[in-house]
Parts: sequence; C-alpha cells; structure tokens
Amino acid sequence: MSIIGYFSLMIDLRSDTVTKPTPAMLEAMMSAEVGDDVFGADPTVNHLQQRLAEMFGMEDALYCPSGTMTNQIALRIASRPQDEVICDKRSHIYLYEGGGMAYNSMLSPKLLDGDRGRITAEMVAANINPPDDIHLPRTSIVGLENTMNKGGGCIYDINEIKAIRKVCDENGLHLHLDGARLFNALVETGESPSEYGELFDTISICFSKGLGAPVGSVLLGTADHIREAKRVRKVLGGGMRQVGYLAAACNYALDHHIDRLKEDHARARILGEEMAKKDFVEQVLPVETNIVISELVNFTPKQLLAKFEQLGLYAVAFGPQAVRFVTHLDFDDKQLEQAVDLIRRL
Ligand SMILES: *Cc1c(COP(=O)(O)O)cnc(C)c1O
Repeated sequence: MSIIGYFSLMIDLRSDTVTKPTPAMLEAMMSAEVGDDVFGADPTVNHLQQRLAEMFGMEDALYCPSGTMTNQIALRIASRPQDEVICDKRSHIYLYEGGGMAYNSMLSPKLLDGDRGRITAEMVAANINPPDDIHLPRTSIVGLENTMNKGGGCIYDINEIKAIRKVCDENGLHLHLDGARLFNALVETGESPSEYGELFDTISICFSKGLGAPVGSVLLGTADHIREAKRVRKVLGGGMRQVGYLAAACNYALDHHIDRLKEDHARARILGEEMAKKDFVEQVLPVETNIVISELVNFTPKQLLAKFEQLGLYAVAFGPQAVRFVTHLDFDDKQLEQAVDLIRRL
C-alpha cells in the first residue's frame, strides 16, 4: 500500500465506546416494542433487565444511561454521608467520575495501590477503619473493577474476589463491581455471570463498550437495592421514557456480541507485540483483553499521538507517560494489518 493510501485512513482505537450500531443492531432497535419506562412499562427494557438478572442470578436490574450513573447509584444506595469507599487508586469510580462519590454521596475514598489496580483481601482487611472511632470515616463499601481499565484491561483472579467477599461479610461491607468490561473478562476465563452474581452485592455492566451498543449500562442487585436505585436514578435525571429503542441494542448485543470479544483480544495482543518492539516503548502492560497500554521513553504521549494522527491512527494518552489502544467491534483484521504497518513504519 502506498503512503497516499494512508491519507484516507481513520483507525480509531481511542476507546471501545467509539463503535456505531451494526445494521442488524439498528434494525433490532427500529423494531423494538416500547413504552414509558419511568412507569416500568417498556417491555424491551423489562426484558433486558429480567434476562440480565437471571443471567447473573441476582434479584433485579435497572437500565441507566451510563456506567458512571450505575456506579454512582450503587455507591449512593450502599452508604451514608461521611462513609468511606475502599478502592484502588486507579479505579474509574475514583479517577474518572468527576469526584462523583464526594459530590453525589458525600463519601471519601481509601485509595489502595494494587497490582495493576487489583487489590487483595489482605489489603482490604488492613484498611477497614475501626467502626467505633468517631475520628475516622465509617468504611462501608469495597469497589472492585474487572477488567481493570487503568491496569491495561487485566483480569481479577476470582479466588481473590472470593477472599475479598469473605472480608466484606466479616465486616458488614457492601461489595460493588464496576463491570464495565466484565464480559471481556468472562470470555477469557470461562467463568460465568452467575459466579459473579454470587460474589457481589451490586454489579454495573456497560453495553456501550465492547458490546457495541450506542448507550446504556445496567445495575444489578437485590430487589431492595433496585427499588432504592430507581429513586436515585430519578433524581440524577436518568429516568428515560421510550428507551426500549436503546435497550433493544443491548438485547441484541447480549445475543450476538459476547463471544466475538475474543477477536478483539486477539487483535489487541498483536498490537501489543508490535508496540513492544519499538525503541520508544519501555514496556507494554501484559495484554489480557482488549486494552493495550504502552509506556513510552524519549517520546511524550502527545508527540506520539500527533505522529499517529498524521497517519490516521487515533489513540489516547493514559497518564503522563503512556498511550492506550482499545480494540473493538469496528476494528477488523484489515484495519489491524494497516495499524501494524503504521506502527512498524514509525
Ligand atoms: C467506561 C467505563 C465506565 C462508565 O463510563 P460511562 O462513559 O459513564 O458509561 C465505568 N467504569 C469503567 C472501568 C469504564 O471503562
């Protein structure tokens, strides 16, 4: 391929949120049966919520506009003002939700430094505040993220989660999972949604990431959790009306877009291998799913991204010294070949 060909290239690896609905997904959306979901009368939303609750073996589920909202609602319903949330310092709930836990729920975080964002039961146990000391915030929630975005899409060992569950039980703590990319983890490990449903009090799942839907996340929990969650969703402005048109895309994604996540992972591994060969890359975090984080030397992310962009490849800076690629439904083998070619030429 001549260099001229690159001028028409646009390979977008900024995030797995950049996908557009496929023609078949759009068709499913257009033919959705809808109703007013604030009245609980949208059959397509109800179907999505019921089937997810069943899949995870949890009592109930709630469709919301974003994963930020499902996470924020979970934090709110599981705490009182002044409480503390134990989480890794790289967590989405801390780093990327606009300070929401403080703003929406008056919570403070206890930030731990896990292995690429994965904390352990021992770390959790060592960071629970004594409940009788009025100087200290009351520890009420442990928040995990799987896969861990800022840790390069790495996957939790389910045995560690079981040990964390035990610590939570012993101390009366709520265990929440930010499962924005949980299905990416599940297709790799072969674990089932119901194993996760058993371990967590609440789970947030995103449909607008690897699953390829345009909008939406679902919060899973007990019937009591979801009853409370509906009140919070309303006050956050997240009660939507004929939203079955969007939920239909999520139903479609559950039927058609889960197994194929493995393809994204295979492509991400190839990108990781190519980046690791470059002398401006100090290291690539181990590629376990669809995220490739490359730590740079002699190049700032801004400089590298500018070079990529001239060639038609888009990525994002991830901290002061790293760039991130995320593979997704709209990144195919042909684009992979082109991306590899571009990286080799740099
Ligand atoms: C994308 C994402 C979310 C939710 O983001 P929204 O854009 O609000 O849907 C939550 N957690 C993680 C780890 C994410 O990557």
